[in-house]
Amino acid sequence: TKSSAAIGAKSVAAEVAEVMRAVGVPDASWRNGTRATRSPITGEVIAHVAEASGDDVAGAVARSVAAFEAWRTVPAPRRGELVRLIGEELRAHKAELGHLVTLEAGKIVSEGLGEVQEMIDICDFAVGLSRQLYGLTIASERPGHRMMESWHPVGPVGIITAFNFPVAVWSWNAALALVCGNSVLWKPSEKTPLTALAVQALFERAVHAFGGAPEGLSQLLVGGADVGAALVDDSRVPVVSATGSTRMGRIVSERVARRFGRSILELGGNNAAIVCPSADLDLALRGIAFAAMGTAGQRCTSLRRLIVQEGVSDGFVPRLAKAYGSVSIGDPREAGTLIGPLVDAAAYEGMQKALEAARAAGATIHGGERVLADVWPDAYYVRPALVEIDEQVEIVTHETFAPILYVLRSAGLPESIKLQNGVPQGLSSSIFTNDLREAEAFLSAEGSDCGIANVNIGPSGAEIGGAFGGEKETGGGRESGSDAWKAYMRRATNTINFSRQLPLAQGVSFDV
Ligand code: NAD
Repeated sequence: TKSSAAIGAKSVAAEVAEVMRAVGVPDASWRNGTRATRSPITGEVIAHVAEASGDDVAGAVARSVAAFEAWRTVPAPRRGELVRLIGEELRAHKAELGHLVTLEAGKIVSEGLGEVQEMIDICDFAVGLSRQLYGLTIASERPGHRMMESWHPVGPVGIITAFNFPVAVWSWNAALALVCGNSVLWKPSEKTPLTALAVQALFERAVHAFGGAPEGLSQLLVGGADVGAALVDDSRVPVVSATGSTRMGRIVSERVARRFGRSILELGGNNAAIVCPSADLDLALRGIAFAAMGTAGQRCTSLRRLIVQEGVSDGFVPRLAKAYGSVSIGDPREAGTLIGPLVDAAAYEGMQKALEAARAAGATIHGGERVLADVWPDAYYVRPALVEIDEQVEIVTHETFAPILYVLRSAGLPESIKLQNGVPQGLSSSIFTNDLREAEAFLSAEGSDCGIANVNIGPSGAEIGGAFGGEKETGGGRESGSDAWKAYMRRATNTINFSRQLPLAQGVSFDV
């Protein structure tokens, strides 16, 4: 473990102030508000943000509708130009914004920067998309007729995001929604409002450089679940994209469905990796270590269950336990730290409760204890836990948002796949094997039931080019690449008669 002695005098709060100034966030939005924000690095208060009220949400939605009505008439490639400029601002301020992610969410330096890189990448993707947004032409059964499909902007898109990807998730949604001709309303996690304020400031700069974008095209609504709920219940918001816990998603999806809105749900995961006897075990070990311990186990795609097949060397799990025992934990600002803090006390308590349940079920636990409490009594650092357990008992089927990796044994591939699919969540999965048959079986219709299935890499760290999301209690939504853009548009089927006859479909005759 590492202390912050090397960091010296500069407090997290002082570093936050520097970044906020550099990015141009107005003081009034984060210095004198009602909601205190803490940094998970030290537990110190770093800001008091101003919160939106119910009336503020209603007003913001009205502005968003007006912005949408203007923006939908702007040609899509021109809309892409605004997203290109957002990407330029992100490139110019990558270091500051990445640093702020570290300060506010506790991610290590390379992960903070990586999150901003992901934003830049999705902007590039969306710019290309702005010259596509293709529809189909369809063969008509009637002579002198043509059928086609058109994709149109849909309206204001509500975006509710989680603390653990405080900026990237907004960009996956917003970059696509904007090129698709929509306006955007963002309710960030109450745990990470500062990075959202910084992104909003960069967005405003891009709008300024663009010239002529409607006012209120992308608005930020800082606050808690009540602010999110106001957005969820507003029938002027046709699409709500919600990222967070399954508990939240269940509430949001029911409320959006009640008013016939559309939701894109990106909820909890309980991701597994299967290790087969033919696997390259050195590569598997590295892949597993990053996926399970990286981001202190606080990714939706974090590896939470390891399924080790019979025939894998007996030395494999002890090697993994050794990596768990020696991984560097500490101040995420320091070079060399691999594991930063948990987000807050509740995350720590949730982790300890899960470990107690596993212990009661007869598990052998390596690690899991709190560290550095003497240096930062208000921050929660833990040694990642490796938990050897005989069966997939109830606690293993839950997503505990902390670095716990349950290790299960299985007799062969069919049993491994059954275990892998035997949980309510369906986000990400992977297999480590050099056997073509095993890899293909895992990817087949009888294989992994997840939205993401990988071979010889861990379940975390997706690229933006693919559609991202998962099945079952993960919510079924898809964001980011591939054709995920279609969720941000409405589809119109058009039939055009260029003949002088009026043949009816299905041969119906109706002569008046
Ligand atoms: P959370 O569910 O506590 O909060 C997420 C967001 O939902 C916050 O902005 C919160 O204010 C809002 N919210 C909560 N209740 C609401 C309600 N009733 N109505 C409207 N909004 C409401 O989640 P968290 O602790 O911030 O994030 C961790 C969770 O997010 C984990 O379960 C993780 O797996 C999941 N996650 C999923 C993905 C994905 O893409 N599948 C990505 C990141 C995180």
